[in-house]
Amino acid sequence: MTKKMRMTKQKRVILEVLKNTTSHPTADWVYEQAKKQIPDISLGTVYRNLNVLRDMGEIMELNYGSSQSRFDGNPKEHYHFTCESCSRVYDIDLPVQREMNELVEKKNGHRVDYHRLEFYGECKDCRKGTYSKDLEDNRV
Ligand code: ZN
Ligand code: MN
Repeated sequence: MTKKMRMTKQKRVILEVLKNTTSHPTADWVYEQAKKQIPDISLGTVYRNLNVLRDMGEIMELNYGSSQSRFDGNPKEHYHFTCESCSRVYDIDLPVQREMNELVEKKNGHRVDYHRLEFYGECKDCRKGTYSKDLEDNRV
C-alpha cells in the first residue's frame, strides 16, 4: 500500500520541473531549476523529495549503474533510447512488450513483474549533424 503523502511546496515544484522537461534530468539539474522558485532549497532536500516522489509513484528513477540516476516525470512504463554521442535520453514510441514477461515466466518459471529495455546508439540530431548548443538545455 502506498502511503498518502502531503504534497509540500518543495514536492510540487520538483514535480513541476520534471513534468516540464523531456530531458530526463539528473538530481543536480532538478536542483538548479527548483532553486529558481525556492532559492533556499538544498540539494539534500531535492534528493530526499525525488526519492519520496518515486516511492509515491509520481515519477520514475532511471538507474544507469555507475552514472548518476536520471528522473522522469512520466511514471508510466515506457522505453528509452540513450545517445552515446550526446548523452541525451529520449522516450521511445514503442508499446511495452508485455508478452515478453509471459515468455520468460513460461521458459524459466520466475514470476516477472516488469522488465527494462534500453536502446543505445546515435540520436537523429547527432546523425544529421544538427546537434547544436541551443539544445544544450536539454542535455544533462
Ligand atoms: Zn545525440
Ligand atoms: Mn521517459
